Amino acid sequence: MEQEKILRQTAEPLLEWYQKNARVLPWRSENPNPYHVWVSEIMLQQTRVEAVKPYYERFLSALPTVQTLAEADEELLLKLWEGLGYYSRVRNMQKAAQQIVAEHNGEIPAEYSILLKLKGIGPYTAGAIASIAFSKPCAAVDGNVLRVMARLTADEGNIAEPAVRKYWEKEITEALPKERPGDYNQALMELGATLCLPNGAPKCELCPLRAYCLAYRKNQTMLFPVKTKKSSRIQETLSVFFLVSENKIALHKRLPHGLLSNLWELPNCPSETQTFEFLQKLGVTRAELLPMRSQKHIFTHIEWHMECYFGKVFEKQLSNLVWVTKEEAAAEFALPSAFRKIWLEGLKQMEDF
Ligand code: SF4
Repeated sequence: MEQEKILRQTAEPLLEWYQKNARVLPWRSENPNPYHVWVSEIMLQQTRVEAVKPYYERFLSALPTVQTLAEADEELLLKLWEGLGYYSRVRNMQKAAQQIVAEHNGEIPAEYSILLKLKGIGPYTAGAIASIAFSKPCAAVDGNVLRVMARLTADEGNIAEPAVRKYWEKEITEALPKERPGDYNQALMELGATLCLPNGAPKCELCPLRAYCLAYRKNQTMLFPVKTKKSSRIQETLSVFFLVSENKIALHKRLPHGLLSNLWELPNCPSETQTFEFLQKLGVTRAELLPMRSQKHIFTHIEWHMECYFGKVFEKQLSNLVWVTKEEAAAEFALPSAFRKIWLEGLKQMEDF
C-alpha cells in the first residue's frame, strides 16, 4: 500500500525532472518510430548508451525498415552487430521481423500481448515498445527501474528474482500516469542510469524523488537493492592463434550451435590440446609461433583465459580455414569482441613480419 502511494506521489516530480533533464539520444523523438524504439532497446540490453549510438546509426542506415531487416543477409547482420556481442539478439530480431512481415503485414503490433509473441521480445522490450511508440499503459521494467524501486520503497526483495520483477511490473502498470506511459517509463530508466546509479553512491542531492525516497530518508541508500551472491562463472583456458601467410590471416567459422555460434573466430583450442597436432588439423604444416600478450574475456556465464600466439606460416594445405586480408576481414567478417584485442595486436606484429 505504501509502495503504491509512493509511486503515485512521485509520478509528477519524476516527469517534470525528465522533461528538463532527459539526455538527447538519437532514438528519442516527439513521435517515436516503433522500429527505432525496438532496435535501440535491443541494442541497449547489456550495452552502454554511448557505445550504442554509432551502432544504432549504422544499423538503421543499412536496414531502415522491418522489411529490410527481415530480408537481410546473415553475414551483413552479424557485421552490423560486430562488437556489440550477444549475437542471438540480432538473430532473434531478424526472426521477429520475418514474423511481423508474414503475420502483421510488416507493421509492428501495438499490443503488449502480441509483441510478446515475437521472437526475442520479452516483457521489458514489449512494455518499452508498447508504451514509448504506442502510448499503451504498460510498464517496462529493466535493471535500472528495479534498482530505483528497491531504493525508493526500501524493498528488500531480490531484484534478480523473476517474481520480484513481476511484482514491480504489476505495481508500475497500475500506478503509471495513463496519459504519458512512455515518458514515465523512460524517466524511471533515465533516473536509474544517471542519478540512482548501480555502482557507488547514488546522486541523491540531484534527485527529484529525494523527499519520498525511503532508503534516502533512512540513510540506507547503499543497502538497496539487497545484494545476493553471484553464481561463479565457468573458467575456460584457450590457446588462440593469429596465423599469417602471404599477408593473409586465418579465420575459422564456429559451430552452428553454442556460444558465438556461426561467427568467425581466430583459430583456437583448449590449452591442454597439443599445439602441433591442432595446427596440423588446420592444414598448417610448418609455422613459427611467437607468444603474444595473454587476454581475458568475460561472457555472462563463462570466462575465457586466452594464451595467444602470433604464427608465421611457411607451409599450409587446404583446410576449413579461410585466409583473408585485413581489409576483407573488416568489410565482410564479423569477429566477436572476445578476439578484438588479439586481432589488433596481431595486425601490429604483421607490419614487422
Ligand atoms: S533519492 Fe537517491 S536513492 Fe532515492 S531514488 Fe533518488 S537517487 Fe535513488
